[in-house]
Amino acid sequence: MQIIPISLPTPFYVGPVNVYLIAEEPLTLIDTGPKTKEALEALKEGLRRARVRVSDIKRIVLTHAHEDHCGLAKSLRDEAKDAEVFVHGWETGHRVGRLEYDAHRALLERAGVPADDLAAMRRMYEGVRQYADALEDHEHAELEDDDELRFEKGSLRVVHTPGHTPGSCSFLREADRTIIAGDCVLKRITPNPVLSPDPFDPSRRFRSLAEYLVSLARLRALSPTLVHGGHGGVVDDYEELFHRYVRAINERQAEVIRRLPKSGATAWDISLELFPGTDDVHRFLAVSESVAHLDLAHSENKITVELSEGREVYRKA
Ligand SMILES: [Zn+2]
Ligand SMILES: [Zn+2]
Repeated sequence: MQIIPISLPTPFYVGPVNVYLIAEEPLTLIDTGPKTKEALEALKEGLRRARVRVSDIKRIVLTHAHEDHCGLAKSLRDEAKDAEVFVHGWETGHRVGRLEYDAHRALLERAGVPADDLAAMRRMYEGVRQYADALEDHEHAELEDDDELRFEKGSLRVVHTPGHTPGSCSFLREADRTIIAGDCVLKRITPNPVLSPDPFDPSRRFRSLAEYLVSLARLRALSPTLVHGGHGGVVDDYEELFHRYVRAINERQAEVIRRLPKSGATAWDISLELFPGTDDVHRFLAVSESVAHLDLAHSENKITVELSEGREVYRKA
């Protein structure tokens, strides 16, 4: 069972995205790239090199529903006629191109984001939406943890690895413990625990960082030999990456706690301190990161939280 990486350009700061062709019947594409002319051309060129056409694709499997990974899913599905699309059910907060802004807005308000900045983030959302077509409910099936994607030769096991998003999934080739991990594992950068509504109760926040730490440990328990991430090169020393990530998370948590003034601060205040002067897209990610660290510190009883005028205010415990 051959895993063929194809790198596609994206209009995003993160740079090119890796999608993976499983060159085995039923022919499967893991992630699709964003809905841009450039990404589609690069994908078709990559398929051509593997002597495959879009119409040969039988299965499209999404690691998660961010636009750079899922954007072309609908048009490829339509072009490949019978291709089935799979995505984890917990991707509802970001469901295949349908950003549920209202649920997000409530979370951002509680994190202390001022009205003007909320409006700017809304424009950012709308700008990003153009890079993915929404899939109707009947146009995709749900991936579940431990599902097996069977091929003529070999199989991939679904490992639900929430954190970056609630429904993020990785795929394990058991024969040699190779993993395709989407944005759960990136060679050079620590993935952002993106602010998301909880899949079961959208009025609550998904505990992204706590879930992410469990996912990293779960992958570690699989002793991966190679990990193919959603961006950047292949990770051939997961153990080193695991410790580096955990160290970075611990250091960031200590910094967040250190920056909390006696009078208390919101996640928004903390994000401005950690990442001063960033643009709207990165401001959203900065808030995501701050909220995630505050949630984790709170769950570990290192800080307290109090609701004041609809905003959560944190203080050192
Ligand atoms: Zn992502
Ligand atoms: Zn990505």
